[in-house]
This record gives sequence, structure tokens and C-alpha cells, in this order.
Amino acid sequence: MASIPVYRPRLTGNVTAYVNECLSSGWISSRGEFISKFESGFAEYVGAAEATSVANGTVALHLALVALGIGPGDEVIVPSLTYIASVNTILQAGATPIFVDSLETTLQLDPQAAHKAITPRTRAVMAVHLYGHPCAMDAIVGLCEEHGLLLIEDCAEAVGTLWKEQHVGTFGDAATFSFFGNKTVTTGEGGMVLAKDPIVMERCRHLKSQGVSKTREYWHDTLAYNYRMTNIQAAIGLAQLEIAESILERKKAIAESYRGALVGLPLRMHDPVGPVEHSFWMCSILVDDPSRRDPLREHLAGHGIETRPFFPPAHLMPHCRANISLPVAESISDRGINLPSYPDLTSEEIERISEAIASFYR
Ligand SMILES: *Cc1c(COP(=O)(O)O)cnc(C)c1O
Repeated sequence: MASIPVYRPRLTGNVTAYVNECLSSGWISSRGEFISKFESGFAEYVGAAEATSVANGTVALHLALVALGIGPGDEVIVPSLTYIASVNTILQAGATPIFVDSLETTLQLDPQAAHKAITPRTRAVMAVHLYGHPCAMDAIVGLCEEHGLLLIEDCAEAVGTLWKEQHVGTFGDAATFSFFGNKTVTTGEGGMVLAKDPIVMERCRHLKSQGVSKTREYWHDTLAYNYRMTNIQAAIGLAQLEIAESILERKKAIAESYRGALVGLPLRMHDPVGPVEHSFWMCSILVDDPSRRDPLREHLAGHGIETRPFFPPAHLMPHCRANISLPVAESISDRGINLPSYPDLTSEEIERISEAIASFYR
């Protein structure tokens, strides 16, 4: 039986034509018409005024932090239960990540825990919309406004994710997206930065391109980076954007099928909670008994089904270890499995996966 991967991008539509256009025109580097088309198309898609493309979702976060002026001496509140890039970029900016716990229901940043973590040094909150579910944005936006904190949204896993019908990434002072190969919209590697303030946007564009002067060639007026996306990546991204709705529709249907097929088992789905649109970047399950998580994954691997465990909490990692206990994040992390979640997953494959999970519990 063919094995089923966790993810495989859907590369249909205009992708081949657009990439070939790059090749035949010779515009394969970080200049070319697809860059601005993808940036404006993406901004329009999420409902932002503008967006600037970058090489990946990690440098997107670093650029956003630096452009907002976050650096040494600043504390940034971040959920420990996230992909490590959220935390590493805070450290790379010279700031200090302050880890907070998550909510059992949504798996997202706990706004009350964030409130308790505020000190005189707190500069910002980084809200990570994990696995396609949004954070509780009313509470988080309110908290930031009340305490004069910057809000950065890590939307790497949240294309198509809405809070009260508003796309995530449009709440914060800055927001970032990732277009890695397994993300809902992919460019292979790639990322995007959004910022509310046009001055911050301009700083992002300046910093991502070596800080070069607009008026004087090879004159660099600040220490900066090469974080640019290529025209080829943008060509793929534009074609992906054109089929994004169909990808998202299919992912929601897949989550629905899993939910139906897995009822009655000692586990729960990562269901949407509140006034949200869950985009199901990943279809996740949380097993009731954490000691059964790894044996279940092994059982599925034996059936040719690839899965992923949830992220380990960052406060347990060697390079950013904090001597604290975040019981909800730790428990969620110990129980979570991401099932195959790609848009072209067939009904037969979903049945095969669900049946393999059921057989483990029999
Ligand atoms: C994927 C991801 C990133 C980093 O994106 P890359 O494009 O892989 O650099 C950052 N944060 C989260 C939550 C992610 O899932």
C-alpha cells in the first residue's frame, strides 16, 4: 500500500506557466513583475493595505521585530507552544522571550497568562495562530491597547484563518506569513510581512534589501539584511493565491471527514471555538492518554501513514530553557498528533487513516 505523507502541496493552476515566464524572460532573481503582483494580491487577499515579500517566514518575523524597533532590554510575550522560529527571532533581535501558557480548548496563547506576564520591560506580544486556529483577538488586542504594547501576529500557519470574519494578520502592528512547502499557500520557501504603519512597512522594505539608499547607488545607510524573495517564488505564490480558496475548502472538508470518522474514540479534534474560521493548516487530534500518543504514531507508521507530533514547548529547549512549568502547553504538546492534512488527500485515504486509528484502540 502506498504511504500517505503528512503534507504535499497542490501545484495546479498557472504555476507552471508563471514559472516558465520567469525562465524565458530571464527574471529569476529578486526583481520582476511577479514580486509586486504577489505582494499586492496577497495584501488584497488578507485585507491589508500593503505587504512585502521575504525569503521565508523566519526572516519575516525577524524583520518585523527589528522594523518595530524591538531589541535589547525588551521583553516579548510569546506562547511556549509554538514553532521555534517565533522564539528564535525574538532572541536574534536581542530581546527576551517571556513564555506563557496556552488554552486547552483552542491551543492558542492564554490572554490571562499574557496579562500576568506583563512587566515594565514588556514591549510586545507575539500572537501565534497555531495550526490554523486564531488566537482570541479581542482579548489580545485589548490587552495590548490597555498596556501600550506592540502586537505581532505570527500567521505562518494561518492563511485563511479569520477572527470575527477578519483575516488574521490585520489586527497587529505587524504580521508575518510563511510559504514553506507544507504551508497552506506555498512558494517552496518564502514569507510575507505586513505592518499597520506605512513607516514601518517602508523600514521593512529598506531593511530587507541591504539598507540601500533610494537615491545613491551602493550607499547603505544602516546595518541591514538580504531577506528578499525571488521572482520565481513570487510566480509560484501568485498561482497559489489564485487557487487558495479551493485549497482551503478542501482542507475544511478533510477536517469534517476526520471528525465524522473518529467520533467515539478516546481523543478529540482541534475544533474551532468562538467566532472563528479555522483554516485547518493541520488536522490535529489530541489523545486522552498521553502515554498512548507515541504508540499510536508508531501504529500509524506501520500502516504507511506519516504523522507529526505537536511542537515541544520552547521553554524546554536547551537554548532557551526557562525554569518554569506551563502545564497546559506541556500537556497539549504531549497529546497532540497532526494527521495527513494536504488538500489532495482522497476520501479513501481519510477512511484508511481513520480505520487505522480505530484499529489501534480496539
Ligand atoms: C513555518 C513557521 C514559521 C517559519 O516559517 P519558515 O518559512 O519555515 O521560516 C514561523 N512560525 C510558525 C508558527 C511556523 O509554523
